[in-house]
Amino acid sequence: MEYLRFILVTPDEVILPELNRKVGSYAQRKLAARGVEIITHTGVSAMADGVVELTNGHKIPANTLIWTAGAAPNPLLAGLPLPQHNGRIAVDECLAVEGWPGLWAVGDRASVSNPKGGFYPPTAQHALREGAVVARNVAATLYGRPKKKPFRYTSLGQLAAIGRRTGVGNILGVNFSGFLAWWLWRTFYLSKLPRLEKKVRLAMDWTLDLSFTKDFACVTTPRARAGARLLLSLERSQRQCAPSLPSRTAAPRRVPPRDYRSLSLIAEDADGASVERQISSGSGGSPSQRAASTRRICP
Ligand SMILES: Cc1cc2nc3c(=O)[nH]c(=O)nc-3n(C[C@H](O)[C@H](O)[C@H](O)COP(=O)(O)OP(=O)(O)OC[C@H]3O[C@@H](n4cnc5c(N)ncnc54)[C@H](O)[C@@H]3O)c2cc1C
Repeated sequence: MEYLRFILVTPDEVILPELNRKVGSYAQRKLAARGVEIITHTGVSAMADGVVELTNGHKIPANTLIWTAGAAPNPLLAGLPLPQHNGRIAVDECLAVEGWPGLWAVGDRASVSNPKGGFYPPTAQHALREGAVVARNVAATLYGRPKKKPFRYTSLGQLAAIGRRTGVGNILGVNFSGFLAWWLWRTFYLSKLPRLEKKVRLAMDWTLDLSFTKDFACVTTPRARAGARLLLSLERSQRQCAPSLPSRTAAPRRVPPRDYRSLSLIAEDADGASVERQISSGSGGSPSQRAASTRRICP
């Protein structure tokens, strides 16, 4: 966090408006306490040349923009001669497209009205259940059964993880926050995982994760390999320069504690052979505590 600046921009009054104001304010306070700057009532209007422009006219220099805006309907729908509502195909309560016998629509592209008011949101929870209802109604139509099933669904609630084993949520109208909400969120996703074996493996991994430090996996890409090559060449040149530097003039450099214990990079050396570079750090993470070793994998 010392070297990174996080800015969260939202057009809403508080973050996570899908939950409720109280829960959103809690999440906002938690993130702000961790150093995340939150800008509300504002949207992102453009991103170019390392600058993010906001609708309030401010410009933020940034090379990384993570866009989490909601899903929009497929533009293909606009050209279809079907009844539409807010860019989605209008269907009746049995998910049949109005005025088009034999045509049905479900999921994100369908605008399904909720008898309690408004429209059902475009989420997987709804899409999955609409699929089951439409299958039944298509079969009823094909077999000439007059009775069709209307789509009705009341969401149990919503949960979100906000990092550092903290979550927020609302289940059956009751607000949850903190570790309990995070634990419920994880348990829900675990329950949805297919196959018992996967569930058991993940449950064990997550349980171990509560007691031990983070387990990092390094997947190398051409860009990462280029970075590793740069690291190796920098260290080589440092080694060459080191004897000529008077050690007492070198100012001590504070390095913040690291989460990782060891990191492994695979790169190519000057001869084109693969080398594995191991960098390990103690919890203090000072340069003297850090140990590095290079191992040639393929001669
Ligand atoms: C980042 C993200 C996170 C989400 N998280 C959640 C969550 O936590 N919980 C939740 O309930 N919902 C979540 N959602 C919403 C959820 O994914 C959708 O509501 C759900 O997938 C909708 O299902 P669908 O079948 O209508 O559409 P999709 O799952 O989008 O399926 C449509 C399919 O049609 C295909 N397709 C598109 N155009 C064509 C074409 N011209 N020809 C042929 N095939 C085409 C696509 O490739 C796709 O496979 C999330 C969505 C996103 C984007």
